[in-house]
Amino acid sequence: MQSLPLPTIIAHAKEYGFLYPSSEIYEGLQAVYDYGPYGAALKRNIQNLWWQSMTQLHANIVGIDSAIFMHPQTWKASGHIDSFNDPMIDNKDSQKRYRVDSLIEEHAGQLEQQGQKKKAADLLKVLQHLLQEQDLEGIYQLIVEENIQCPVAKTSNWTSVRQFNLMFSTQVGAVKEETDKLYLRPETAQGIFVNFLNVQKSARMKVPFGIAQMGKAFRNEIVARQFIFRMREFEQMEMQFFVRPGTEAYWFDYWKKQRLQWHLDLGVPDTQLSLHPHDQLAHYAQAATDIEYAFPFGSKEIEGIHSRTDFDLKNHQNYAKKKLQYFDAEINQSYIPYVIETSLGCDRLILMLLCQGLRQETVAEGKIRTYLKLPPPLAPFKAAILPLVKKDGLPEMAHKLTEALRSDFALVYEENQSIGKRYARQDLIGTPYCITVDHQSLEDNTITLRERDSMQQQRLPIQALRDYLYKKVALQTILKKLIGT
Ligand code: ATP
Repeated sequence: MQSLPLPTIIAHAKEYGFLYPSSEIYEGLQAVYDYGPYGAALKRNIQNLWWQSMTQLHANIVGIDSAIFMHPQTWKASGHIDSFNDPMIDNKDSQKRYRVDSLIEEHAGQLEQQGQKKKAADLLKVLQHLLQEQDLEGIYQLIVEENIQCPVAKTSNWTSVRQFNLMFSTQVGAVKEETDKLYLRPETAQGIFVNFLNVQKSARMKVPFGIAQMGKAFRNEIVARQFIFRMREFEQMEMQFFVRPGTEAYWFDYWKKQRLQWHLDLGVPDTQLSLHPHDQLAHYAQAATDIEYAFPFGSKEIEGIHSRTDFDLKNHQNYAKKKLQYFDAEINQSYIPYVIETSLGCDRLILMLLCQGLRQETVAEGKIRTYLKLPPPLAPFKAAILPLVKKDGLPEMAHKLTEALRSDFALVYEENQSIGKRYARQDLIGTPYCITVDHQSLEDNTITLRERDSMQQQRLPIQALRDYLYKKVALQTILKKLIGT
């Protein structure tokens, strides 16, 4: 199944209350977005699912919630101050700044379209080599030799290539001094590493064990495009799994499989997902694989599984001058554990679900039906309760039903407009079930239940409704799949 074009998805997300450009009344802020009522509900459901599948389903994983601000030394130790850079180049005419890898990759794409496949492939190979060697001058020469032009100014009037740090910084207190500089965390992982011993001791964890956390991360992304795929403020859901050195290959493989299965259990078909091992590794990684989703703009990372060795804990131990060792009673040895990380972007997951879910189907000649096929447990509303007409005691009965089920499920009550229009509206925001109270309901206490995807209707006794819905829409339905029950 091919997803709809990205502009259609962006327009739908805005019109139906999922996502708005940030500060839109002031013309917006690039690469920052706000979640509307349905987007916020979807996001919260996803976070609950991730949190429960990590902590509740694994006795050896606990969750924490560390602060966004951290001691500035953290980022020295983690390598982010020295290595969290993208090589950039500015065009002097347009004043636009570009990531050199994107610029050259786009150029290679154009060559490919012109039939120069070999030249494009060679160019990408040279680029990889230069990036690995951090040869900024070489990259500059490549841009000049290929006569790559600025897409805006259409000139090759470039500055030299420079490293550009992706971290945002801010100041504590009133006086501006270098020592008071704080960074907005570019990943949530470091809050886990600095608390490694606190958690291990206070929660009495034994290796292998994991620490999970979700929260905001900030990156001064230069190529900020593709809607919520690349944002400057975004949400990560990360888990660091601490293992005995020597067992990291086993656990890397284990978490790769587990995390891929998690996405499959959301109902995303395996044809849309792929594993992509990295050739070019981040400064901390020994091995890395991305889980990619086939977005309308290409197959792109939604989650990274990284084998981080003892890189982070060892560096924190050195910088903080505090021992970050674990005593393994089974082998009577102390060591710094190795780490496997699973790092998922919540916003990218939401974009995946929107791309995967938004459907336009021809239902009759000239009539197109649009609906949002979200996994029912993640949908903003689980059901809409609709009196067929706004009279004859039907609204009263529908209200009573809403009150009776409100504490179990997120519900919406709607009585205005024709029933067809009300169904259509719920389809657009992804509500999996519509419950219609009609005249027969008054007589025999049954309702019609309409299912979003098939549009099929069935009559159910009101008494059976709670159990029926629970089996279809509770988060537990996904959690049960995950543990195979
Ligand atoms: P990319 O190569 O796409 O920039 P990355 O390799 O830098 O991503 P990681 O550092 O591995 O990403 O971050 C882990 C996860 O955090 C990613 O898989 C992604 O889902 C999410 N993420 C990273 N950067 C962003 C961003 N700017 N906007 C939204 N999500 C992001």
